[in-house]
Amino acid sequence: MKMILLEPVFKQMIWGGNRMRTEYGYDVPGDNTGECWAISAHPQGDCTVATGEYAGMTLSKLWESHRELFGNATGDRFPLLTKIIDAQHDLSIQVHPDDVYAREHENGSLGKMECWYILDCDEDATIIIGHHAKTKQELEDMIHGAKWKELIREIPVHKGDFFQINPGCVHAIKGGTLILETQQNSDITYRLYDYDRLQDGKKRPLHIAQSLDVITVPFEESEGTQASGMIEDANEDCAMSVRNQTQNGWFEHLITCEYYSVWKAELDGTQALIQDQKFMLGSVIEGSAILDGCELKKGDHFILPAGMGDVTLTGTATFIFSAMV
Ligand code: ZN
Repeated sequence: MKMILLEPVFKQMIWGGNRMRTEYGYDVPGDNTGECWAISAHPQGDCTVATGEYAGMTLSKLWESHRELFGNATGDRFPLLTKIIDAQHDLSIQVHPDDVYAREHENGSLGKMECWYILDCDEDATIIIGHHAKTKQELEDMIHGAKWKELIREIPVHKGDFFQINPGCVHAIKGGTLILETQQNSDITYRLYDYDRLQDGKKRPLHIAQSLDVITVPFEESEGTQASGMIEDANEDCAMSVRNQTQNGWFEHLITCEYYSVWKAELDGTQALIQDQKFMLGSVIEGSAILDGCELKKGDHFILPAGMGDVTLTGTATFIFSAMV
């Protein structure tokens, strides 16, 4: 069983920058590339396999026709999505529904739970996580009264921070922030506030009614949300395999929630990776390494399929790994 390397899909966004090219060397379609859908089987951005036996096949097709590569996991669609997001300008402040709400109101879509690893940000950068309303009534009043400054919870952010964003959590990244996002395979977003900005002379539509339906009140800080290196293991009980959560110490466990586990791994020399999950998603965020005889460099994204067993990695690199739960 071989590693499966993927070709990302790029998305132009009005708020996007050029760091996909300057930081990662991707051959991007334009200067406002906001999102790199790096490991995705979503209809809006279905990655293709780059090399090997399945070269040219989309990830959705691979999931459909070769479920053995994914440990015979069940489900009508590939469960996760890995993205890199480059925000040159502030993103609109938004919130996502959970599975139950999305199934009913969004044509059977999955909800969206997501988490962010901060790859880079400006000095003194901030991030929007949560709100200050104490009751649903207060939330409604503040939204209808346009009291955004009082409502929105804005906190400092630093390179290397990690945030878990549950459905119902108000959130946004600001200009100058580069993140790696691990999320459920969904594209449902409700825009709560867009800083009253104009695009072609018009404000972009907001989704106030849906936002009011799904925002959690009061805001609860997620257990996996920790700033600046204070990350501790959370919810280990629901992890599929606790035994190798840290891979003999070179993995740092960032989160396990009901949909995914995420780890950061620092490689310096040679390490074994025990692939005991159904399958694992990997992204190289710094450096380069050799895995399974294949060279990997910063900006490469891959899947370690089921039954791969122990893998040897050599090099100096930082990875984000994830697995379905
Ligand atoms: Zn989001």
